[in-house]
Amino acid sequence: MQSAFHHLTWKEAAAAIGAGAVMILPIGSTEAHGPHLPLATDVIISEEMARRAAVQLQARGITALVLPPIAYSVTDFSADFAGTISIRKETATALVRDICISLYKQGARLVVISNSHLEPEHVASINGAIAEVQQATGRAVAFPDKRRRRWAARLTEEFRRGDCHAGAYETSLVLAARPELVREDVRRRLERVPISIAEKIRDGARTFNEAGGSEAYFGSPAEATRDEGEATYAALAEMLVTSVIEALEGVKA
Ligand SMILES: [Zn+2]
Repeated sequence: MQSAFHHLTWKEAAAAIGAGAVMILPIGSTEAHGPHLPLATDVIISEEMARRAAVQLQARGITALVLPPIAYSVTDFSADFAGTISIRKETATALVRDICISLYKQGARLVVISNSHLEPEHVASINGAIAEVQQATGRAVAFPDKRRRRWAARLTEEFRRGDCHAGAYETSLVLAARPELVREDVRRRLERVPISIAEKIRDGARTFNEAGGSEAYFGSPAEATRDEGEATYAALAEMLVTSVIEALEGVKA
């Protein structure tokens, strides 16, 4: 099945849009993810969950296409580390807004965001974009935020504790999608960093270093497994599918 929007020709894109295809926009970051994961970790995760959701939507008779991913976002927490590329919040908002408006102007049925970068200002940049799209077009963008209890309940304990940057949660997801990109010899020797970034943020930390993550990871990468990654993708794809179905029903209602 062809699910990559950008692999279509313009005539095929016109046909897909006309036939009511749902557009999934993966959003990640270019950001330090410990000494064992690539900078593209969040892009890999967002694209993979989008791809799996597209397959499931297709099986339910809903055509879904995965857009080219956004690989840059607000990543100030890891700005101390080499390789991290952070953009301003207004740039991030404008980019997401403009992409959605462009698709809606062409008659797209629904845009849904597949996001795996969870820095609060980044999530705020997406919510800001969604509000601007609504204002400009009257159209809604679906955005399931996996930090919300409804979705987080299906994710791993480490994720829910909040020590979820480059720990077992994200490492398992990269192991399941792109195992060749995980530095296994490094990963296996990493000590657990039992710190909840979510709590540290509430206490005022503004960088991973301030939160105690001097190697740009938290949690327990050594405990990551491909099986955990597969189980988590199942939950993340279902989150996107449910969100699309609810949004389409909302459009009809
Ligand atoms: Zn990440």
